[in-house]
Amino acid sequence: MTFQALQTREVDGGFQTDLVERDLSELGSEGVLVRVQWSSLNFKDALSATGNKGVTRNFPHTPGIDAVGVVEEAGDGPFSKGDAVICTGYDLGMNTDGGYAEYIRVPAEWLVPLPEGLSPRDAMVLGTAGLTAALCVESLLDTGVNPEQGPVLVTGATGGVGSISVAILAKLGFQVAAVSGKQDAVDWLKQLGASEVISRDAFLENAGKPMLKEQWAGAIDCVGGDALTTALKSVKYGGSVACCGLAGSPELNMTVFPFILRGVNLLGVDSVELPVEIKQQMWQLLADEWIPGGMSQLEAAEITLEDVNEWVAKILKGGVRGRVVVRLP
Ligand code: NDP
Repeated sequence: MTFQALQTREVDGGFQTDLVERDLSELGSEGVLVRVQWSSLNFKDALSATGNKGVTRNFPHTPGIDAVGVVEEAGDGPFSKGDAVICTGYDLGMNTDGGYAEYIRVPAEWLVPLPEGLSPRDAMVLGTAGLTAALCVESLLDTGVNPEQGPVLVTGATGGVGSISVAILAKLGFQVAAVSGKQDAVDWLKQLGASEVISRDAFLENAGKPMLKEQWAGAIDCVGGDALTTALKSVKYGGSVACCGLAGSPELNMTVFPFILRGVNLLGVDSVELPVEIKQQMWQLLADEWIPGGMSQLEAAEITLEDVNEWVAKILKGGVRGRVVVRLP
């Protein structure tokens, strides 16, 4: 039996992604076979689809770190044929063929049941970005950050993780200061729940200073580099910064002053390898309390496999607003 998939291959020293016909047997026979209904486009998918060896070592490869669909062959695990399931992270779309295909085959331990109340499409509007935003918010709450302490900063605010973080924080009663490089996104960010929108240039104006005025109870940083260091230098005494991304830079060049003079916490957030039980708890929170009614505000472009190359180029330039969902045939 054959199925459609995108495949990234090395061609003349570069990388090219095309729609191909594959045989189901190429996915092996272990684990759970899932018929994919929707996937999504994350920054990391764009890295994989353009040959970034930090994400994908071996090509040809099918990208797509997110997938939602229906179990076709359940194998030995707890699932049954017909169950609706979500797969995000672990090795999916990295070195295991990912969600830009009609089928994936993955270990049962990578799968989370689709929570009630969440449609398959909505699950991918959230996707890894939503899961990561939830983990970032949860990590701030765990260190005691609360709305009485002042606003929370979000960098890369129009991106997938950033925009969903803004929506969740606002839903939880926080004032949110959103940092964005997109001047035309101010109204949209305010609709999502931002109380203030700061331009990226203004935010980074004093990035070279060792310490900055205390302003934020906490921060979620999707950008890295100067954005992360500026957040750390301007968080209030005892505040926390959740660090999840490197859309701007993987660098972290700063002094230790915010840590030793203000007791600031730097919280690392990983959505990929964490135990599936925690992923399941986060999905439940997203479906029950954190997003309901808010799904319609989250912006998602809907594309097909044929459109992926165009959107990969866009997301690598930081040009995507909100999320991108990929509809499988
Ligand atoms: P998106 O591309 O959707 O969003 C990134 C946003 O960052 C952009 O929209 C833009 O927002 C801003 N940005 C982009 N380029 C730059 C730049 N050069 N300088 C400053 N800001 C920039 O990506 P995602 O939301 O999917 O992911 C965000 C980051 O988080 C990525 O680095 C990704 O790899 C990482 N990530 C990590 C996860 C984890 O488990 N730790 C899971 C998911 C994502 P604006 O224009 O509004 O400033």
